[in-house]
Amino acid sequence: MDNYKNATTAAIRIQNTLTDEMEHSTPLFLTSSFQFDTAEDMQGAFAETNDHNIYSRFVNPTVTEFVQKVCALEGAEDGFATASGMAAIFGTFMTFLNSGDHILSSASVFGSTHTILTKYLQRWGIQSSYTDFSNKEAIIQAIRSDTKLLYLETPTNPGLDIFDLEMIGKLCREKGIIFIVDNCFATPLLQRPIEFGADLVIHSATKWMDGQGRVLGGVVVGRKELIREVYLFCRNTGPSMSPFNAWILSKSLETLDVRMQRHCDNALTLAKRLQSHPSINAVKYPMLETHPAFAIARKQMSAGGGIVTFELKGGLDAGIKFMNGLQMLSLTSNLGDTRSIASHPSSTTHSKLSEEERLAVGITPGLIRVSVGLEHIDDIWSDIRNSLDPLI
Ligand SMILES: *Cc1c(COP(=O)(O)O)cnc(C)c1O
Repeated sequence: MDNYKNATTAAIRIQNTLTDEMEHSTPLFLTSSFQFDTAEDMQGAFAETNDHNIYSRFVNPTVTEFVQKVCALEGAEDGFATASGMAAIFGTFMTFLNSGDHILSSASVFGSTHTILTKYLQRWGIQSSYTDFSNKEAIIQAIRSDTKLLYLETPTNPGLDIFDLEMIGKLCREKGIIFIVDNCFATPLLQRPIEFGADLVIHSATKWMDGQGRVLGGVVVGRKELIREVYLFCRNTGPSMSPFNAWILSKSLETLDVRMQRHCDNALTLAKRLQSHPSINAVKYPMLETHPAFAIARKQMSAGGGIVTFELKGGLDAGIKFMNGLQMLSLTSNLGDTRSIASHPSSTTHSKLSEEERLAVGITPGLIRVSVGLEHIDDIWSDIRNSLDPLI
């Protein structure tokens, strides 16, 4: 697969190879199955001696178009699309992990991923553990002879920690471990983990890829022989993406580049303005010099992404007051929408963790996460400032 910097370019090259027609926009194959001219054609499809579509749980042309666009952006050989980001994560874990295997993960991961790692995998005799991925020695210590997968997010949700993909990629290659990166927060427009040694890259397409808060989706892309395994597992177990969602997402990818530029510009400006507000202790954004891994962010990302976090001096109470003071920003648990969204992790998404567990992943009582939208930055800032000022 050639790789392109922008999915609109990729779209033009990919789409017309999928059917004999020459649609200008993405066609929607809203069908569960495909028919054959002859018994031999059908026989060949099952034997994989031709590439005829069989059944949409396996492959569907609209879904293939979406997957190929993501491959082009990530510089990946092949991919498989799923109903949600969690379906991609769980499907990939279960493809490779057998009873007796171990998976090593960074401590701060998306909430449902944390639940899979700590509550479900053990049921099948799979061990998981966390370590500090910003510390090379700690990773070396944590790798075991039965470690099969190494999994991380960078930037992490919601902590915005940044890990050195190149350093970790090298370690995985030396040890023969499959290196998987959840690249949801960066998108392939800002960071391409395969260039730094990742074997597989996973996305929740629900977030920035759709970017308009409409559909759920997930995708895993990477090395051809690994994707083949994911495909065979998923074709049988059924987490596949709906053609309708692929149709939505495929068009969304064509505007991802310009959307991300605006999200990132707005986020950086917001982060800088927040830094001088008296009711805030600290602001975290990958492209601020005060970020502990600023140098690594600069090395592996072209911009900081659309998420900014900050810590209110007034703790939990201030967090609740801030959320209630917002007029324009939505109180929503999603992120990566056209509209700016605020969330208060310690009273919502992470309220079930103990205080100690929350602090271990950087979630203090006054932490606010903002998913910065496409509105004018002055409108975003005035809503946030109006809600911050009474907290001084
Ligand atoms: C949202 C999210 C997921 C899960 O994706 P869904 O599409 O909601 O299933 C996984 N990883 C990260 C980093 C996310 O933000």
